[in-house]
Amino acid sequence: MRIVIAGKPGSGKGTQAALLSDRMNIPHLSSGEILRAEIRNATAFGKEVQEYVRRGEIGPERLITSVILEFIERKKYGKGFVLDGFPRTIYQARELDRRFSPSLCILLTLPDETIFSRLPNRLTCTACGRVYNVRELLPEREGRCDGCGSELVHRIDDRHETVERRLEIFREESAPVLDHYRRSNRLVPVDATHSPDAILRDIIKALESLELTNPV
Ligand code: AMP
Repeated sequence: MRIVIAGKPGSGKGTQAALLSDRMNIPHLSSGEILRAEIRNATAFGKEVQEYVRRGEIGPERLITSVILEFIERKKYGKGFVLDGFPRTIYQARELDRRFSPSLCILLTLPDETIFSRLPNRLTCTACGRVYNVRELLPEREGRCDGCGSELVHRIDDRHETVERRLEIFREESAPVLDHYRRSNRLVPVDATHSPDAILRDIIKALESLELTNPV
C-alpha cells in the first residue's frame, strides 16, 4: 500500500511514518532525510539543495522530484511505502500520481502554537532521523540516539524565524496538494495533538474503516 503523510513542519510526520511503517511492514521514506543525507555526503545534488534546506525553502522542485522518484524506483519501493515530506507541491503530487499513485494521504492536523513550542526543543538524529524533545522525550544517553547511537542535533531549520517561513510555505504550497487528494477522496485528516501512540491508533482506525490495513 502506498501512503503519503502530510502536515505542517513539526506535526509528527516522521514519527508517525516510522510507527506506521513498523506496524504495516512497509518501507518508510522521508524526502527531508534523503536531502539531508545528500547534503552530509556533499554530493553534487546535496550542494545544489543545501541552501534551500537550510532556509526551509522548496528549491528546484523538478530536480528534487526526479531524485525522490528515482530513489523509490531504485529501492524497488514502488509497491508500498509510507512517504513523508513528499509531495509538497502540486507538480510533485501529479508526478507521484503518474508513477506511484498513493492510495491515500493522511493529513496530521495541529495548531501553529504547538509547532512553535515544539520545534525549537526538537533534537533529531543525524543518521536515522528519529526525533526527541529536550522537554518531554530525552534520549537515554545525552546527545545520542537510542536507536542507532548517532549524534543528535538541533536542526538549523527548526529555529523560530525559519519555522515561520516553513509554515508560510506549507500554507501556500500544500493547499493545492491537499485539495488534489481531497477531490480524489484520498485525504484522511487525523488530529495530531495527542500522544504518538494515540495518533497511530487513530490512523489505524481510519485505515480499517477504509479497509486498507493489508499491506500489499
Ligand atoms: P522535512 O524534513 O520534511 O521538514 O524537510 C526539510 C527541508 O527539506 C524542507 O524545508 C525543504 O527545504 C526540503 N524538502 C523536503 N522535502 C521536500 C520536497 N518534497 N520538495 C522540496 N523540498 C523538500
